[in-house]
Amino acid sequence: MSAAASFLLRGGRVIDPAHGTDEERDLLVLDGRIAPADTPVPAGTPVEEVGGLLVIPGLVDIHVHFREPGQTHKEDVASGTRAAAAGGFTRVVCMPNTSPPCDNAGTLRSILDAAERKGVVRVHTTGCLTRAMEGAELAPIGSLARAGAVAVTDDGLCVQNNGLMRQIATYARMFGLPVLDHCQDTSLTEGAVMHEGEWSLRLGLRGWPSAAEEIIVARNLLLAEHTGAHIHLQHLSSARSVDLLREARARGVPVTAEATPHHIALTDAALAGYDPSAKMNPPLAAEPHRRALVEGLRDGTISCLATDHAPHREYEKDVELDFAPFGIIGLETALPVALEVLHRQEGFSLPRVVDLLTRRPAELLGLPGGTLAPGAPADLAVVDPDRTWTVGPGELHSRSRNTPWLGKELRGRAVATAVGGRWVYREGRILADNAEG
Ligand SMILES: [Zn+2]
Repeated sequence: MSAAASFLLRGGRVIDPAHGTDEERDLLVLDGRIAPADTPVPAGTPVEEVGGLLVIPGLVDIHVHFREPGQTHKEDVASGTRAAAAGGFTRVVCMPNTSPPCDNAGTLRSILDAAERKGVVRVHTTGCLTRAMEGAELAPIGSLARAGAVAVTDDGLCVQNNGLMRQIATYARMFGLPVLDHCQDTSLTEGAVMHEGEWSLRLGLRGWPSAAEEIIVARNLLLAEHTGAHIHLQHLSSARSVDLLREARARGVPVTAEATPHHIALTDAALAGYDPSAKMNPPLAAEPHRRALVEGLRDGTISCLATDHAPHREYEKDVELDFAPFGIIGLETALPVALEVLHRQEGFSLPRVVDLLTRRPAELLGLPGGTLAPGAPADLAVVDPDRTWTVGPGELHSRSRNTPWLGKELRGRAVATAVGGRWVYREGRILADNAEG
């Protein structure tokens, strides 16, 4: 039951939102591709019994930080793609805030080359909006596009100059690239550690007002309308941002947004114990914001989920809250958290939850994958939606452990993940031959 280019998955619940499929049936993979439903099964095809399990398209994450080049003590393409495979993901999009930043074609190609050599899932990358992510000068967006960037972003930072942002949007549109923006007016967040509200007052920590995000969201909606560029709002965290976005989308403005599993599952109350693994950017907000994100996902205002997988090592995070870096890992917990919050608590159907993690993110950036279309490469995950497991440090494949779910029990887990019909992950183990490190 190791790597195989052809196999039959027997008796699973096959969910493929792109084709409206949700039924118990067999799924045949032939020579690494999804076979049409009526294809006769060739004699000798290995059979995998998957009764009681879900068979879904491999998950797609349009927001990960693999820290290569420059900070590979936190993560690299090998460990990051292993974490992805273990979480049921078969395709990820890397952010360009590496060291040096991915603001030129050479760095971009070196990341794709590393992914080719060491990655166990499919890897795309983005390029920067500005040179060295300094927010001052336009990055060479045309040459980044030609080198294979799937979008441009200064994620982690936010271009504060509106004139420059307008110029970026105009160029990105010319080259057909979406602009992914991390929305943060930095004049409002200096020294801020957590969401500004009751909890920041109680804990005596410097607050980060929601307006810091909303001001940039409003700026981006206006610039998308003005330039016709597709601007995508990353890791939305505020209720007012969702309202502004809903109104703009209703008018046909080319704007989209993502939400992270942690922003829909947790609130600023998670900081009560001054836990650095609940410190992230944008910060976890109060309950009305969390609710608005769920409703934004429900009515389609927010297009998809994305993890913002942001590894930091224990010794970096294990300091006073003021000094701890922002961000948490998310690839290995995204699916169970989404199932818990959206399906079990909020009543989203299973296909709807799968859609938010597969077809929707793929479509948003025009990536292949995210479906079980006949003839498509067999990128898929077999999932046990009811398996409970504890997020122990030894369970994780990421090089970092910075997650608020460490030591907690979650329900739902990828059992096996295949890329191009080749099993790369099964029951806690990475199987791919090129899995170094
Ligand atoms: Zn960000």
